[in-house]
Amino acid sequence: AKEEGRNTFCFFSPEISTATLGDLLLENDLFGALDRQELLMYYQPKVDAGSGEVVGAEALIRWQHHERGLVSPEQFIRLAEENGLINAIGEWAIRNVCAQQRAWLDAGLLVVPVAVNISALQFAQQDLPNMLAHVLADYGLPPQLIELELTESLLMRNSARAALVLDRLRKMHVQVALDDFGTGYSSLSYLRQFPLHALKIDRSFVSQIDENGEPVRLASAIIAMAHELDLVVIAEGVENEVQANYLAAHGCDHFQGYFYGRPQAVEDFGKLLAGRRLG
Ligand code: C2E
Ligand code: CA
Ligand code: CA
Ligand code: CA
Repeated sequence: AKEEGRNTFCFFSPEISTATLGDLLLENDLFGALDRQELLMYYQPKVDAGSGEVVGAEALIRWQHHERGLVSPEQFIRLAEENGLINAIGEWAIRNVCAQQRAWLDAGLLVVPVAVNISALQFAQQDLPNMLAHVLADYGLPPQLIELELTESLLMRNSARAALVLDRLRKMHVQVALDDFGTGYSSLSYLRQFPLHALKIDRSFVSQIDENGEPVRLASAIIAMAHELDLVVIAEGVENEVQANYLAAHGCDHFQGYFYGRPQAVEDFGKLLAGRRLG
């Protein structure tokens, strides 16, 4: 698959004309990033709104570039989608998280479910349930320990197929959250057709909650309607107590954000899990 990707890298493709030189250099390097084992996962905790306990984590990919240091996914996921590497990177992400969960389990830690982000293109091109089933089997991992985060645009692109894929995932006991809710165009009732477990309120709504105490009606409406659809509601990008209190008062179930913990290196998240065991 990598050779295929290399062959499609062409200076005359339409995307290239809008790309910056930096993008091109980075894209070139991305082909070797997997081989050189330069990709890694950071883990950001999700906490329960009531108890404050860690109830899960989101795996966030990073690229430790040999010259540029830590490159953010915002800089290379799009490139990977354009050159076809996204499938290999997407599979690496799931495999890496499963291997890590296995290692934590073997170390006797009290693990939590870890969510992996799935790109729209990867979702469209891969047989995700099949790949995931193989990786879970390889590591003898309970399916409840891996969750997926998908965006609305991904579901809307081919909603009939998406519903079938989500149905298969549900039968496998793999939970799926809708990511970045509120940034797309779909209505909550449209989401009824998909077997989803949770909904993540996008950071852009959470950041509107400030000291002025003005109600952020959209945030509270999303929570109420999501609960009617039996969805767990997770707020992303919670940065302060004011936001946490507002969201908790409106029934938000789980929080994720700098206020509770930054995305952290695997060793640090391991220590957090170890602390859970003692406490
Ligand atoms: P996302 O899925 O919406 O992930 C949340 C982003 O918000 C992360 O950025 C996270 O570090 C950041 N964040 C978390 N809490 C806070 C907060 O309190 N304040 C602020 N300002 N930011 C916060 P990150 O890690 O740079 O990831 C960016 C995006 O890249 C992700 O957005 C996701 O769409 C994508 N991504 C990350 N990892 C993967 C991956 O393994 N596969 C795919 N396909 N996409 C990924
Ligand atoms: Ca996400
Ligand atoms: Ca998100
Ligand atoms: Ca977001």
